[in-house]
Amino acid sequence: MKFPTLSDIATTAVISVSINDTASKAIEQMLKHEHRHVVVVGKNCNYIISVINILNLKEKKISLETPLSDLKLQEIPSINKSKNVLDTVEYLSESVEYICVTNDDGTLYGVLTHIDITSNIDPETLMENYRLQDFLKLGRRMKWVNKDEKISNLISDMVESAYDNVIIVEDLRPIGILTTKDIMLLIKTQTDLNVPVGLHMSKPVESIHKKSSIKEALHFIKKKHYKRVVIVDDEGKLAGIISQKELISLSYSKWVLLMKEYQDELSEINTLLQKQNREYKTMASTDPLTGLYNRRKFSDLYQSSFLTFKQRDNKMSLIILDIDHFKKVNDLTGHNGGDKMLVLVAHTLLKTLRNIDIVCRWGGEEFIALLPTASLEKATILAEKIRVHIQEMEIDVVGHISASFGVAQVSEDDEMQMVINRADKALYLAKESGRNCVKTQKDI
Ligand code: GH3
Ligand code: MG
Ligand code: MG
Repeated sequence: MKFPTLSDIATTAVISVSINDTASKAIEQMLKHEHRHVVVVGKNCNYIISVINILNLKEKKISLETPLSDLKLQEIPSINKSKNVLDTVEYLSESVEYICVTNDDGTLYGVLTHIDITSNIDPETLMENYRLQDFLKLGRRMKWVNKDEKISNLISDMVESAYDNVIIVEDLRPIGILTTKDIMLLIKTQTDLNVPVGLHMSKPVESIHKKSSIKEALHFIKKKHYKRVVIVDDEGKLAGIISQKELISLSYSKWVLLMKEYQDELSEINTLLQKQNREYKTMASTDPLTGLYNRRKFSDLYQSSFLTFKQRDNKMSLIILDIDHFKKVNDLTGHNGGDKMLVLVAHTLLKTLRNIDIVCRWGGEEFIALLPTASLEKATILAEKIRVHIQEMEIDVVGHISASFGVAQVSEDDEMQMVINRADKALYLAKESGRNCVKTQKDI
């Protein structure tokens, strides 16, 4: 079986920016190509910048015009495109999501993700490519003795440590093997055990080199009908012993481990993405200052309310309100003071209206409420109630404030803008009539 080289499996549709570019250039590229990541090409190594990094910049109020070289970006490993997918296995256990694949001259060829790697590797692959020595590094247990050791001395040690076999060596080279089964046979036949182990061992012992693959070792075992392999180094000295069961389970457990790490990382990324998505949705539909719906969301909600309105036999009305002399509030308390007041008015609206009513910040100091089940009369009463609540508010430095209201009722052949226009005209009339009052479409 041949394993793909990285040039076969890397994604070459990569967008990249230079380390000398700014964060805003990176955003521009992300938006243009609808990617969540951009590779940042540095002088000697590559980095990655993601949507999460950008959100972080925003949160920390770092300017988007900052050069990428001034930001702390995650460095990503680079690997030549002629390498084999197995050369990347080591990266799976690290917390890197991407690996840069480079051309011979070091320029960017493409990127490789975890999924590119794992979908090209399975236990069979691992068996073919992991060497026995990789597993020996795990410190496998084994017992070995010199051929002159007495069998009687061995028994208690084997029982205590639960070894089911002993390798017998001469000058550290394996020359035979003695299993617990052999010892039982010796006991049964009442053989004298006070003799060197070399006398009763099975020999010769066939060994396999530590650089052999797991697959080769399994093949060797199968051919010889052995249950275990004795492993030697370059000089033929004993390096370890591994059973058939261990060989298979080691490969599978390594694979399971890789898959698990990959899954964990994937689910972490998923959670983050879902959270981001929710944040984006909220950002796209609400006014950041007051938390009320913005114009865009209001229009969507108006359309769905309008459909229900047409199907049912009820009335629907709309209130538009504008704070009186708001410029004065800004002048007296500064922009921040004005902002605080807008939040207070928003709260008053939400408190006075019902959950089914749709409240929106239409712009500046103008608000609209859609009342899906209210007639013009009912909406006028509610507007009056809000007017009184606002009039009762007392603000530091400014004192009492007020707002003017326009009310209109939706009819079956109304476009949204037509109702708003009628309400707006009523509002204008309210302003004309001295402010701090409610006017309806009937007054215009
Ligand atoms: P009128 O009674 O005729 O409505 O007078 P006004 O001063 O309320 O009306 P005008 O439309 O002339 O001024 C509205 C002001 O609201 C102007 C603008 O600076 C301010 N404004 C708009 N958006 C915001 C905001 O988000 N925060 C603050 N603090 N002020 C805002
Ligand atoms: Mg105003
Ligand atoms: Mg206004």
